[in-house]
Amino acid sequence: MPLIVQKYGGTSVADADRIRDVAKRVVDTFRAGNEVVVVVSAMGRTTDDLIDLAKRVADRDHPREMDMLLTAGERVSMALCAMAIEDRGVPAMSLTGSQAGILTTATHGQAEIVEISGDRVRAGLDSGKVVIVAGFQGVSPDSRDVTTLGRGGSDATAAALAAVLGADVCEIYTDVDGVFTADPRIVPDARKIDEISYQEMLEMSVAGSGVLMGRSVEFGRRYNIPIHVRSSFTTDMGTWVKEETMEEAIIRGIAHDTSEAKVTVHGVPDKPGVAATLFEPLARAGVNVDMIVQNVSRDGITDISFTVPKSSIASALDVAGSVSTDVGAGGVDVDEDIAKVSLVGAGMKSESGIAAKMFRILSDHGINIEMISTSPIRISCIVAGGDIEKAVRSLHDGFQTAMAPASEGDG
Ligand code: ADP
Ligand code: ASP
Ligand code: MG
Repeated sequence: MPLIVQKYGGTSVADADRIRDVAKRVVDTFRAGNEVVVVVSAMGRTTDDLIDLAKRVADRDHPREMDMLLTAGERVSMALCAMAIEDRGVPAMSLTGSQAGILTTATHGQAEIVEISGDRVRAGLDSGKVVIVAGFQGVSPDSRDVTTLGRGGSDATAAALAAVLGADVCEIYTDVDGVFTADPRIVPDARKIDEISYQEMLEMSVAGSGVLMGRSVEFGRRYNIPIHVRSSFTTDMGTWVKEETMEEAIIRGIAHDTSEAKVTVHGVPDKPGVAATLFEPLARAGVNVDMIVQNVSRDGITDISFTVPKSSIASALDVAGSVSTDVGAGGVDVDEDIAKVSLVGAGMKSESGIAAKMFRILSDHGINIEMISTSPIRISCIVAGGDIEKAVRSLHDGFQTAMAPASEGDG
């Protein structure tokens, strides 16, 4: 019997009516002759609300208790979904991440799935039930505490379960019709992409396209599970993320990210070993450095800038501050008002002039580029935070023809 994993995001389970809609879709899929595993996110803005609540009772971070708190959000929606499905006459059972055997590292807030012993899920399916698993959470066998997988982590839960269970497809139900050529909230005429390769989707996700968490794409790629990103409000086909795509496009899409900040260490002596002295302790502190720029050296002194997630600013400043003192640098500052815009497309590898055109478009719109980084299939620029929407729109306009044509009926 085919096995389908369906993941429903926060908007898709935002209230009682939506949960009933989800139950109907799940039951239809089950009655069509499939085994169904459902992964749910917390309802609506629950996760954000719980984070706000925590900030109101405590000034300091409490990672273990924060995970206890946040995992409650998905518990609520999984139980309600199970009830709504059973109400329609199909047996269902909800499981927390820990009950489903999702074993993770012990890092609260950013745990990684290391193993899934899916026997309870399998047993539930074998007894003819729909199994609903709480997304975004697991348990660490080392600390025996519950953990969360990072924002958007329910996508990773779904893809990892699909991999372990050998599902035929992992469906990601969300509030847009699929993956678009840019965030449709910023570019209203962005087009739905019919097919995208794992590699391109991974670059889009890592560059900030929140529609699919990067780690879910990695699971899909590693275990060759097709991922279908689609709307929970229609039955239309969405976007297929898979190994090979039919259409070659030079640019597949434009991603943007406002979650990073830029840290600059001023007046660093320009000599061997200084970069290592700075970035080794940052790595040890678990700070995820993205882009790095070292300015031109003058009189043996230079500035080094790098970007980090805003959530890591405090640790980054701690480390950079003490390194700055140790090496006799001129001090450290942070700029939170930055954003990153990226062009992604496998066709870039064989096309010259893409970067030049990107820089020209940004300059024609009066947008200053503060940092640049590239991969074989991505070019990213850091710009001022206030310029990001203009940057995304103007690049989407300027690269229209380099993107795959709209499929019939789209647009
Ligand atoms: P869910 O709660 O279902 O997981 P998310 O909010 O995590 O939903 O992801 C869906 C959102 O991702 C969309 O509402 C959209 O604004 C945003 N998004 C960003 N980039 C893209 C893109 N390229 N294509 C589609 N949606 C995108
Ligand atoms: N509820 C979590 C979040 O808001 C996980 C998820 O929705 O994927 O990030
Ligand atoms: Mg999401």
